[in-house]
Amino acid sequence: MRHLSTQQLVRLRSLLDTAESALRQRIQAQDLAGDDGEDTVGVRHFMSDQDLHELLDITNARARMQDNSYGVCVDCGIDIDVERLLAYPTAKRCLDCQRLREQRRAHLLS
Ligand SMILES: [Zn+2]
Repeated sequence: MRHLSTQQLVRLRSLLDTAESALRQRIQAQDLAGDDGEDTVGVRHFMSDQDLHELLDITNARARMQDNSYGVCVDCGIDIDVERLLAYPTAKRCLDCQRLREQRRAHLLS
């Protein structure tokens, strides 16, 4: 993440913080909503898979900041555009690799 300035990293860290607290609030709201007696067995979760996934992404992004691998594409190893990181602070791939991955997935599903 040599391409990221300290200022950009501070900004990205605060974006991760904001994303995490928003996520935790949502999880908490869901949890409270689930306690009002409307118990639908098998549907009520403390945390949905997607929420869990997002939380994991945020935790992993922070870990990558710690070991200086943040902002580098996990597939091709190039620096991810700062604009992309600011839009998606948890991005692990550059736009090209992400597109490729989505195309492959769409292909597999079709
Ligand atoms: Zn890439």
